[in-house]
Amino acid sequence: MPSTWYDAVVVGAGFGGLATALELARRGARVALCESLNYPGGCASTFQRGGHAFESGATLFSGFEPHQLFGRWIRELALPVTVDWLDPVVELRTPTARLAVHRDRARFVESLCALPGAPAPAVRRLFALQARVAGALWPLFDDPTLLPPLDPRALLRHAGRALHYPPLLRWLGRPLGAVLEHLGLASFTPLRTYLDALCQITVQCSAAEAEAPFALAAMDYYWRGTGHVRGRIGQLARALAGAVEAQGGTVLLANRVKAVTPVPGGWSVTARRGELRARHVVANVLPRSLSRLLDVPLDRLPRLDRLSRAVESGWGAAMHYLVVRAPAGAHGQAHHLELVQDASAPFIEGNHLFMSISGEADAGRAPPGHRTVTVSTHVPLTTLSQLPAEAQRGYVERIQARMGQGLRRLAPEWVAGLTHAMTASPRTYQRFTQRDGGAVGGVPRRAGLANYRHLGPFQVRDGLWLVGDSVFPGQSTLATAVGGVRTAASIASRR
Ligand SMILES: Cc1cc2nc3c(=O)[nH]c(=O)nc-3n(C[C@H](O)[C@H](O)[C@H](O)COP(=O)(O)OP(=O)(O)OC[C@H]3O[C@@H](n4cnc5c(N)ncnc54)[C@H](O)[C@@H]3O)c2cc1C
Repeated sequence: MPSTWYDAVVVGAGFGGLATALELARRGARVALCESLNYPGGCASTFQRGGHAFESGATLFSGFEPHQLFGRWIRELALPVTVDWLDPVVELRTPTARLAVHRDRARFVESLCALPGAPAPAVRRLFALQARVAGALWPLFDDPTLLPPLDPRALLRHAGRALHYPPLLRWLGRPLGAVLEHLGLASFTPLRTYLDALCQITVQCSAAEAEAPFALAAMDYYWRGTGHVRGRIGQLARALAGAVEAQGGTVLLANRVKAVTPVPGGWSVTARRGELRARHVVANVLPRSLSRLLDVPLDRLPRLDRLSRAVESGWGAAMHYLVVRAPAGAHGQAHHLELVQDASAPFIEGNHLFMSISGEADAGRAPPGHRTVTVSTHVPLTTLSQLPAEAQRGYVERIQARMGQGLRRLAPEWVAGLTHAMTASPRTYQRFTQRDGGAVGGVPRRAGLANYRHLGPFQVRDGLWLVGDSVFPGQSTLATAVGGVRTAASIASRR
């Protein structure tokens, strides 16, 4: 029998779990964080193969400005993390055009306006509206106390910001496509391509479908403290795990949780390295995994079931992990490229690729003169799961082949010196991060008021919480971390 009770046991050291555990430990709670892998970070970690270090999924984080969540943690907790500010932050490439997204937002907007045939006044109007919506919503990320549940102080602060909200309210429940129509921008192809690419990686659907306020806020993704973690992305997850321990918490790596069971006064957590007891359990897993840990079928947990269906209407990822010789004359900084083969086709299944190339300063990632590269594309889980088991592999392999074609066509200088290649599929994600069906990216934010149904921490049962990218605000490392901070605050307020 375990001799001690924890205030909280957190299952999973992705950014949702790390943030919850860190904030609980900082508030003096007795907390244990269990992770099944022997390194933290989940979809935003770095793994080693054949002497190389690859970013497993996420490569480009926002939130590093000193007043933002990651920036604050780095400063207040003296985390060993250095952020490099890239310029351009990302480059969009299609067969006919290249568009650099500069760190300077105004410069980027003007470069769009200067494109041949650009309806410049309408483009400026769109970005003026977008700045107002992003200006209303991003402070909620920078200061998570402004997110539900709201205390009287937060309500007062919202009242003081009331003038910021009208442009947002007008587009509530409507798609970004309607905003573009309204401004006469729906057929300006370079902007549509840019927005489709950006929406696909942020709100996880096309610009035409995306819930407008979320998409307008996500359009600031490249300009909100967005930077490259020098060395490797996993450095931030490791630093956060170290900070949990420095604040008195316990981090148990290689400790997969097998069951979560109610007991008088709280919960029993059965893990590979033994049993833990806690008043609260915070599950940084997908809804379906949580139902399995509870040994309760999803259909007996209706809210969790709904969330699970929403996640499963989304995406898996197909990946290429490469080692390349840096082309002659290549800039030393890390690079991020968005490659679009056919702007008129859906930005999935190898048609759209997000490609991240390590920098010279990322020591130990690849041999001297070489870089490691992570390339991802979206795989629709509904298509994948409807195929017979024996056809699924061929479907993913065709997507990976299309990715290879896109790389050769749109980033030939980087793949000419290819020395090592590996692929991964939704099945790989399922195996390594235990995400059911390899579902990643959380709930696609397609237009509709249902997006606003659950804005607060997600309590499944008394003392049992769900965090991670399936729970609002979800969908990026920063957003999952913000969700974790809100959950920790709710738990702390009940202690
Ligand atoms: C290909 C790809 C590219 C992306 N690019 C970006 C990007 O550039 N920028 C960005 O901000 N976001 C990006 N994202 C999104 C971002 O990575 C995720 O939103 C975020 O990392 C998810 O964090 P999480 O805490 O929800 O879950 P996860 O990262 O999945 O973490 C869950 C953790 O729980 C562990 N676990 C699961 N079950 C158990 C168990 N039973 N016991 C113990 N441990 C368990 C897993 O091993 C894992 O470590 C990307 C995602 C993908 C897939």
